[in-house]
Amino acid sequence: MTQQTECRRCGTCCRKGGPALHDEDLELLHAENLVYQDLLTIRKDEPAYSPLTDQVEPVTKELVKISGHGQSWTCRFYDPIHSACTIHSQRPLECRLLKCWDTNDIMEVIKKNTLTRLDIIGKKNPIAPWICEQEKKCPYRETNFLLRTLSSSPHPSPLLTELTAIIREDLTIRTRAVAQFHLSLPLELFYFGRPVFQVIRGKGLKIFEKQGEIHLDYVNRA
Ligand code: SF4
Repeated sequence: MTQQTECRRCGTCCRKGGPALHDEDLELLHAENLVYQDLLTIRKDEPAYSPLTDQVEPVTKELVKISGHGQSWTCRFYDPIHSACTIHSQRPLECRLLKCWDTNDIMEVIKKNTLTRLDIIGKKNPIAPWICEQEKKCPYRETNFLLRTLSSSPHPSPLLTELTAIIREDLTIRTRAVAQFHLSLPLELFYFGRPVFQVIRGKGLKIFEKQGEIHLDYVNRA
């Protein structure tokens, strides 16, 4: 069998999720080849698909990625009809280095010099304090701990109360910011990532709205 030496444009890598941005990609943002609406933040410890392990697992540090088409992880710039990248000449660093038949180059950079929201917007941006508040009050480290503990706890009520408080706080922060800064949904997803209640959906929890507030119930007791 002939060894692969060039891209066959199968699209597999682009369907597994857009790239995380690195310092080298700041130029693309400055030149507006990429805009904030193209991006999705994956917050520290948030469960997300890892191309390194091919599994969903908490990310070890905050990442800003190119977002997907709709609800899918397929990169928004992937054109499935022509099996092509629509920003090929301006694609980010990870895409330039990725060769699925030889992953040495991508492995060298994949966790290095990745950009955070604050690297991109700057600490003086008026939304920066809102982002810091979200990180302080709604850390995924705590959410993950509560979810793990819930599955074996004989007393889930206090844990559910804590988890509900985090979910509501996350919603409060983003809702107020959306109103104050007139953010569209893509901008909200860049500045604040996905809402916590969406990320933890399907983890044995019933999440429902009652009288205008989010409530949780645990339905998957061990
Ligand atoms: S930017 Fe282009 S090459 Fe990179 S994942 Fe998206 S479609 Fe693929």
